[in-house]
Amino acid sequence: MPSDIKYKRILLKLSGEALMGAADYGIDPKVISRLAREVIEVQKAGVQVGVVIGGGNIFRGEGLAASGMDRVTGDHMGMLATVMNALAMQDAIEKAGAYARVMSAIQIHDVCEDFIRRRAIRHLEKGRIVLFAAGTGNPFFTTDSAAALRAIEVGADLLLKATKVDGVYSADPKKDPTAQRYDKLSYAEVIQRNLQVMDTTAIALCRDNKIPLRVYDMGAAGGLLRIIKGEPVGTLVA
Ligand code: UDP
Repeated sequence: MPSDIKYKRILLKLSGEALMGAADYGIDPKVISRLAREVIEVQKAGVQVGVVIGGGNIFRGEGLAASGMDRVTGDHMGMLATVMNALAMQDAIEKAGAYARVMSAIQIHDVCEDFIRRRAIRHLEKGRIVLFAAGTGNPFFTTDSAAALRAIEVGADLLLKATKVDGVYSADPKKDPTAQRYDKLSYAEVIQRNLQVMDTTAIALCRDNKIPLRVYDMGAAGGLLRIIKGEPVGTLVA
C-alpha cells in the first residue's frame, strides 16, 4: 500500500438515486461510468473496495406498499432492483478495465455469486471490486444497514456514504440557508439529533463495532481519492 494511502479496505454506499443522474428513474450510463472510474481510481491506488448499491432508482418496498402491494413482496422487488444496479456497475467497472464481482444476499446463481464472507474477502485481497447486492437479504431493512453490516463483516477500515451534499448539515441546506455543516459528529449525536445521515440501524451498527463513517459529496470529482489519502472531506461520524 503506498504511504500516502490511509485505508486498506473501504466500503462505499451508493444510493440507487446516485445512478439516475438528472432523470427520475433508472440508470444514466454516463453517471454510472463516471462513478465506476472513481471507484477504480481508488482501487488502483492500492485500496480494497467493496460497494453496496441501493435500489431506490427502480423500486422501494415502502413505496410499493403505499400503493397497495404486500410489503415483503415490495421489499423483495427492492432487493432485486439493487441486483440490477450492481450488475450495471459490474459492467461499467469491467468496461473501464478493472475487475468486479457481484455478490448477492439472495441466491440468483445464473446471474451472480452468493455473498459468502470469506470469498468476498478473497476477492477484495485479489483487487476485485466487490459489489454487494440484495441488501441484507431481509425485508424491512435498507441498503444503508446492509452497507454497515458488510463493512463490519469484511473488516473495512472506513464506511463511506456518497450523497448529493458535501457532508452532514443541521438542516436541509437546500431549504434552510442557516443550516450548519458539521466536520465531525459522534454516533450518539447523529441518533439523538435525528440527523439524516444513514438510518438508525446502520449508525448503531457502526457505533457498536467502532467503524468510522464519512459522508461526502459524490458530485465533487476526486473526492473519494482525497478521502483515502486522509483529507478531511465531508463529515466524519466516529
Ligand atoms: N431492501 C430490503 N432489505 C435490505 C435492503 C433493501 O428489503 O436489506 C429493499 C427495500 O424495499 C428498499 C429497497 O430494497 O426500499 C431499495 O433499497 P434502499 O431503499 O436502501 O435503496 P437506496 O435508497 O439506497 O437507493
